Amino acid sequence: MIRFENVTKEYDEETVAVRDITFEIPSRELTVLIGPSGCGKTTTLKMINRIVKPSGGRILIDGEDVKEMDVMSLRRGIGYVIQNVGLFPHMSVKDNIATVPKLLKWEKSKIERRVSELLELVGLEPRSYANKLPKELSGGEAQRVGVARALAADPPIILMDEPFGAVDPLTRVRLQDEFARIQEELHKTIVFVTHDIDEAIRLADRIAVMRAGRILQFDTPEEILARP
Ligand code: ADP
Ligand code: ADP
Repeated sequence: MIRFENVTKEYDEETVAVRDITFEIPSRELTVLIGPSGCGKTTTLKMINRIVKPSGGRILIDGEDVKEMDVMSLRRGIGYVIQNVGLFPHMSVKDNIATVPKLLKWEKSKIERRVSELLELVGLEPRSYANKLPKELSGGEAQRVGVARALAADPPIILMDEPFGAVDPLTRVRLQDEFARIQEELHKTIVFVTHDIDEAIRLADRIAVMRAGRILQFDTPEEILARP
């Protein structure tokens, strides 16, 4: 479980991105943060893996304050998927996916097996895709590789920031369906940022509705739809 306790983020005096939020993200569920542009979703997400430091309050993962954790081991336990993926352009699909396993000094044969398994999982035929470069991929394929890379070392937590935001609407729906299937199998603790209510309802176990740095509502999609 990821617990936010009175968390505030002030970038500067005029910009209070997050205002005293307290809520709990349950383990092994997908929690969506939704709200208009600028309401503090990305800031909230990035405080979990310490890309952004809170100005006040604290964030606990299974009872442990992230501020007290070694940042490298914290991030090894947290996969991260962003819009436009951020694949390393000079590295093959295989090497992109293997980034963290290599850091962890996994054996070569284990890495090979893991890369194939992950490519299968995200619906890309390993033999056709392992040696491609990112520029040879369509937008949808690149996002699939991004998901595979985030899952590589099997982290319990995945943070996703508009992961399907940059692809065409049809591909987007396909990626959502595939991702829902993957989550049904893996049951990761996922925090998923979007401003698309259809995407939220399709994927979420729970939805946190944000406005101006606050969480207005935190409930299941059914409850949110019943009491908009
Ligand atoms: P969202 O993800 O909901 O669009 P953000 O968390 O990105 O919202 O931004 C919340 C507010 O904080 C916005 O007003 C944004 O301009 C501001 N902000 C975000 N990042 C920074 C930063 N690095 N420095 C200063 N202000 C920032
Ligand atoms: P989508 O319809 O999913 O967006 P595209 O039309 O962009 O897909 O790409 C279709 C196929 O062409 C994909 O399998 C992709 O790997 C391949 N492809 C796209 N761009 C390139 C490129 N620059 N070089 C080689 N293959 C490419």
